Amino acid sequence: MKIHEFQGKDLLRKAGINVPAGFAAKSGAEAAEAFDKLGGKLAVVKAQIHAGGRGKGTIKGNESQRGVELVRTREDAKRVADALIGKELVTIQTGPEGKKVQQVLVEAGCDIDRELYLGIVVDRACSLPVLMCSNEGGMNIEEVAAETPEKIFLEPFHPTDGLQSYQVRKLCNKLGIAGDSIRSAEKLMKGLCKLFVDLDCSILEVNPLVVTKQGDLIALDAKINFDDNAMFRHKDLVELRDLSEEDPAEVRAGNAGLSYVQLEGNIGCLVNGAGLAMSTMDLVKLHGGQPSNFLDVGGGAQVDQVTEAFRILLADKNVKAVLVNIFGGIMRCTTIANAILEAYKQVDFNVPLVVRLEGTEVEEGKKILANSGIAVITAEGLTDAAKKVVAAAGAA
Ligand code: ADP
Ligand code: MG
Repeated sequence: MKIHEFQGKDLLRKAGINVPAGFAAKSGAEAAEAFDKLGGKLAVVKAQIHAGGRGKGTIKGNESQRGVELVRTREDAKRVADALIGKELVTIQTGPEGKKVQQVLVEAGCDIDRELYLGIVVDRACSLPVLMCSNEGGMNIEEVAAETPEKIFLEPFHPTDGLQSYQVRKLCNKLGIAGDSIRSAEKLMKGLCKLFVDLDCSILEVNPLVVTKQGDLIALDAKINFDDNAMFRHKDLVELRDLSEEDPAEVRAGNAGLSYVQLEGNIGCLVNGAGLAMSTMDLVKLHGGQPSNFLDVGGGAQVDQVTEAFRILLADKNVKAVLVNIFGGIMRCTTIANAILEAYKQVDFNVPLVVRLEGTEVEEGKKILANSGIAVITAEGLTDAAKKVVAAAGAA
């Protein structure tokens, strides 16, 4: 689950981490008001979307307008907010279609001396959370990671013991943080590492982490993603979810208990088990096709869930053929067969359907399909299924 920068900064502020004062605003008038509340000096108006790269991003149809802009008057704050809100912001992370800006963050301008990078993720290689820092903060960290990875310093830390003081000193040394700033860095780094663990984050990124002219460290940006599997123990965080930022098909699938990821191809895949879903997509690609989605209906899916899965798949107008690939373990092939019948009754099924069934109640399942009168292309084995669906999509 993703949240907005202003929400992330609220969480940081609560944890005692230095962030600039700021207010979210949903209109030009609210932005002007926020500017006044901040003291009427230098401020920054920042588009709030679930994507980064806003500073270099541009508004569709108004390419001189960036997603982050410094303002010095309330009129300016209003003008920039009006130029952002309701418009599509295109950044390297949004794709060419961009994302609609629904609100902005107006925050106090910061006296920047240096921009550092700080990020925390779980490192699966060492099975620990790892704090990453770099002198090369700001807006090009992806390039730094690709071209000069040695400029990113890593400190894995124990989830319950937290980041240790010696690790902070090591990083400060590499980052050129000295004197009183070390104290500020210690509070901030330890606080962020603790927050990462306490809130079950999957990523916590502060880019830039700023050293001010006065030597303080301040989190100037905040990107926080949470582990969906842990959200049951963070009811208060669930409330921060902004469904309008998410893919509607994925939200719908989530409500039906299905794991769904929208992709750009034209072959709909309905599979049980994430591993089988991944290998099905691989095979479709190997045989020259492009999957339109990842969909794992899970082991215990019921007929109504599978029917909903078909609805979601077929609502995507790019879909030219559907591949059902089921290995019945807990899932019975009869459940899938009945769901296909149900889907035919309820959903406008206007593309070829390739079905590969194996496992529990496979014979009964095949019989249900054979007796249904539905034009199903049956397949034996994975390769046969992939070839048939690619051919069907190509012919459509
Ligand atoms: P993004 O990562 O989406 O481009 P950031 O929040 O990192 O957005 O902002 C981009 C740049 O804008 C920062 O690198 C920084 O130079 C500047 N900036 C952002 N917030 C402030 C602020 N409060 N005061 C001064 N400059 C800021
Ligand atoms: Mg940033």
